[in-house]
Amino acid sequence: MKRFWLLLTALLTFASSGLASEGAAPAPGAACDAGPTAVPTVHSRSPAAPGRVTLTFDDGPHPGKTPRVLDLLREQQLTATFFLVGHAIRKNTFRLVQRMVAEGHTLGSHSYNHDVNMALRRSGPKAVEYVRGQHEVTQILIELALLAQSEVQFEQLFMRVFEEKQFRYLPSGKLRHWQQFANNHRALLNEQGYAPGKRPYPIVFSRPPGGNPYVAGGEKWQRDVYDEALRALGHVNVLWHSESGDTHPHKKHDFAFLTENLRRGARRGGVILIHDYIRTDALVSALGEMKRSGQVSIVPLTAPAQSKTTACSSEQLSVASNPGS
Ligand SMILES: [Zn+2]
Repeated sequence: MKRFWLLLTALLTFASSGLASEGAAPAPGAACDAGPTAVPTVHSRSPAAPGRVTLTFDDGPHPGKTPRVLDLLREQQLTATFFLVGHAIRKNTFRLVQRMVAEGHTLGSHSYNHDVNMALRRSGPKAVEYVRGQHEVTQILIELALLAQSEVQFEQLFMRVFEEKQFRYLPSGKLRHWQQFANNHRALLNEQGYAPGKRPYPIVFSRPPGGNPYVAGGEKWQRDVYDEALRALGHVNVLWHSESGDTHPHKKHDFAFLTENLRRGARRGGVILIHDYIRTDALVSALGEMKRSGQVSIVPLTAPAQSKTTACSSEQLSVASNPGS
């Protein structure tokens, strides 16, 4: 784990110097007064340098679709960040999580059950624990995926940590009790030789499903709930600068629409939101064009995450962010 943090520090340093040398200035309105309790957040008004792009893929792992994305990234020698949904990590997908790490990609949490309204399901401390549980349980599942050496073992680890008789979808009511699962997970890690406080893959980044409650329409009390959970988790909250459009109700299969959005996102720079299920030929075309142009460099998420020093308050973010995901 020490190696991970050294790597992260090195990447942050590299990214910082890279941004500085290119003279990237914060986007208009980016320099909000963050305040001491602001959640570090990458969002549409965070600094972005034209042509410096971070690829992010949401909603996996998917047994049929994620391998195509991984194959393409490998062919193009590119790395990305995958925001994983906890309940999608199963015996037929856990090896994809292993493959992501082996091929140099970054993992983040996209919640356990993709509840886009998680911050308004409950009130008070229970609400915070529910949101926190969404990401804590996903982090545990990511680590079980990395530890398992067989399908049978993956399900055994799941049953042990989540105190179930068989592998199953965890109802949302259980997520609030994440602390018990975390204790079981800790005991497992101790047995496997992890020193106290060490774990296989500490998650640094998370992305709220649908961008909620930070997109237009989210209310302040909901953002307060989500912010409090993120502070407890210590996560960098990752929204996006631009999106591929692969969730658009009418145009998500439109080749020209998708490639133009990706082209525009590359010109602007920053974090591009994509999903594992994007039309493959559009992704192939757009990434190929980025590579051939010589104008675009794909950078790790640690680069735009530098902007966390200029994170805005959640109130300001609600205006700054775009709907999607
Ligand atoms: Zn999503």
